[in-house]
Formats: sequence, structure tokens, C-alpha cells
Amino acid sequence: MNSFNNGTIKTVKFGGSSLADAECLKKVATIIKADASRRYVVPSAPGKRFKEDEKVTDMLYALHRAAAEGGAAFEETYEKIYTRFDGIVKGLGIDFPLAEELEIIKKNLLAGYGSDYAASRGEYLNGKILAAYIGFAFVDPATAVAFKENGAFDAGKTDELLGKALAEHEYAVVPGFYGALPDGAIKTFSRGGSDVTGSLVAKAVNADIYENWTDVSGFLMADPRIVDSPKQIRTITYRELRELSYMGATVLHEDAIFPVRKIGIPINIRNTNIPEEPGTMIVAKAEVDAENLITGIAGRRGFSAIIIEKDMMNQEIGFGRRVLDVFEKFGISFEHLPSGIDTLSVVVESKSLEKVENIIEELYKATEADHIYVENEIALIAVVGRGMIQARGTAARVFAAISHAGVNVKMIDQGSSELNIIVGVKEEDFEKTIKAIYEIFDNE
Ligand code: ASP
Repeated sequence: MNSFNNGTIKTVKFGGSSLADAECLKKVATIIKADASRRYVVPSAPGKRFKEDEKVTDMLYALHRAAAEGGAAFEETYEKIYTRFDGIVKGLGIDFPLAEELEIIKKNLLAGYGSDYAASRGEYLNGKILAAYIGFAFVDPATAVAFKENGAFDAGKTDELLGKALAEHEYAVVPGFYGALPDGAIKTFSRGGSDVTGSLVAKAVNADIYENWTDVSGFLMADPRIVDSPKQIRTITYRELRELSYMGATVLHEDAIFPVRKIGIPINIRNTNIPEEPGTMIVAKAEVDAENLITGIAGRRGFSAIIIEKDMMNQEIGFGRRVLDVFEKFGISFEHLPSGIDTLSVVVESKSLEKVENIIEELYKATEADHIYVENEIALIAVVGRGMIQARGTAARVFAAISHAGVNVKMIDQGSSELNIIVGVKEEDFEKTIKAIYEIFDNE
């Protein structure tokens, strides 16, 4: 029986692009073997080998659809999947019972197994192949990652089952993305969910670090499609990451943060193709670096503001509640609520405003407002940095940069934690604004 407290333990997760073919798997094996503390490995299914390529997970969803429809499409897709895995097995030169494994999958799908089962087989097969190649034990998450009857993830049961299962192995591969319902049926997380499995495994083995290997060297300070070669973020806190991810920066599945955050296991985003780069460290608390006041800038288009004006609004108790009641009634969640003395704006995603006329009518009824109107095509930009709380003048610099760029600010919101400043601008000024803010902080 293995205990988890003998030396450093690393949980290492590899994304689909890091496991797309045999050459990739060889690179991954080298990374794993380079450090004996990389003991628990969580693989995704093979991803794209080139831009127009198909992910195995997508092929498996298609296989499931074809199984229901019948016809030639099933055999065609099955062959494609077979060829993909066969290339990996042959390229690695291992003895692996691929035909038998795929035969079982085929039989189950034709017998009516669900789409979650189908999709999960990419991780399952890749995990088995990788385990055979590097000589690690294979632990099937169908026996260790638990979902409740209603389909919700069961954190308590998973922690217990996964902890027990992994304690029996000093080195193991646990495929990402799926687990099982109480009746044994396979259930997956949402797309990209292998990140979540990695986090669960890290928690269950009380890892010192969760390394998440992908095809980029971590997070960048801004979107490289907008800013030319933005700097890499070396260290980011969980909270900063939440803010940036919410505003559009993606590398990690949203739900992957919570299990490790609770017990303070850092996540290190690394690049499988450039393993010597340190990547980005995601931690609970980090020093404030006077030279890097801003951690990152991210933003999204597609917001609208509903602006409500009423004389003496500021003296009316319950005004805000009446406004928000209307939004609640329409099932709309709001993003920001900037207010003036006699005005209140509710910023929401534009796509939630299908019934905008009815909403306005209800708002007039509920508030007896003087004037209500809507402004569309707003972009929100978040400037995020744990250093802002200590530094004076950060907001002044942000706004100076925006005004120099000739952009008119529609809305300002500084989170009460002083972790971010959010500005609303016209969508047409979105990129210009991000560039201007980045440049002013980049010269430090
Ligand atoms: N293979 C799954 C997907 O493509 C899960 C993952 O890669 O994390 O979404």
C-alpha cells in the first residue's frame, strides 16, 4: 500500500493537442519520466494534429449519432477512429489490444449506450495506451469519479473513492473528462473537462502541484490577436484568473480551479512543446510586484445597458429592488449596475434581451421612471491586477490611456476588492482600448 506523503507529488494533465499522435505521446512520456514526482497522469483524448484536423472526441460524438441513425456513416466514422488510434499504437510500437477494445465500444454503441459513454472513450483509450507505454497503472474514473443520480458532480464521494483507488498505486494514469452515475452509466463533464479531472486527482492525492500541460506557455497579459506579442504572466492568483477567464481569457476549464483552490494546490500551466519554459503559476496568494501592477487585460463584446432615469430616484427606498425584480422575472442575470444620482443602468448581455420591449414596459410599471432607454453594442474590458490595491494612480493611468486613444468611456466599475477596473466602451473601440491600456503599462 502506497501512502501519499513520501516526497513531492505532482499531478500532470496533458491536453488533447499534447496527445494528438504517437510523436506527441513520446514527448509527453519524456516529460513524465524526467521527474519521478510526476506520479499521477491525466490525459485528454487525442486532439487536432493540424488546424483542419478533427478531435477524437468530436468523432466519437459523431459515431454515437451515426449509431442511432444507422447506415454507412457509422462504419465510416468507426474506421476513422480506428485509424487514428492504430497510428498511435503502431507509432509507439506497443502491444495493445486495440481491435478488442474498439469492438466492445462498437457493440455497446449499437446496443444504445449514450453520447457521454461514446465521448468518454477517447480519454479511456488514450489513457490505456499511455499507461501501457510508460508502464503506469491504469485507474478507470468510472470507478472513482462520482456523479449523483441527478447528474450533478459528487465531490465528497469522488474524493473518497479517488483517494482510495490512487493510494494503491505509486504511479497511475487516470483518464480525464468522465466518471459514472450511481447506476454505473458513464457521465462526462462539459467540454474541456479533463482539466477538472486533473484538479480532482491533485486534490485526492494531496499533490504539491498540479501541472497542466498544453500547447501554450501559460497566460498572456492580453489577447495576442489584439496586442502584438503580449508579455507572459508568470504568476496569477486564482481570483485574478477568475476575473480574466470570465472576461474571455481561456486556457483552463472554469471548474478546474475550485477543487485545488480550496486546499491551496498551485496550478502550473506548461507548454508540452517548450517544456523548459516555466509557464504560468496559478496560486492562492502572490507577492505584489511593483513592476507589474497589471496582471492582465481581457474583454468581451456583446453587452447592452438599460438606462433608467427618474427625478429624486436617490431618495426612493426599494427602487433598485423593483428594477432587479423585473430582470429576475425575465430570468436575466445582470453584469453591472452603475448608478448616478437620478439614473441607474443595468448592464446585461445583449443576447438576453430578446424581449426588450416587454422588459421596458414592466420597468416603467414597476418604477414609474421618467425615461428608460437602451444602449447596445457595448464592450466591457477588465483591467485586472492584485497590485492595484496598493498603488495610487492606476485608475488615472488607465483612463489617461483611453482618452489619449480618443475613446469615450461609457461605464466604469471598480470591483470593491480593488482587483479590477472594468470599463465599458463602444464595440468599435474595443481593440483600440485594449491596445492603449496594454501599452501604458508595458513601458514599465
Ligand atoms: N476530450 C474532451 C473534449 O474535447 C475533454 C478534454 O479534452 O478536456 O472536450
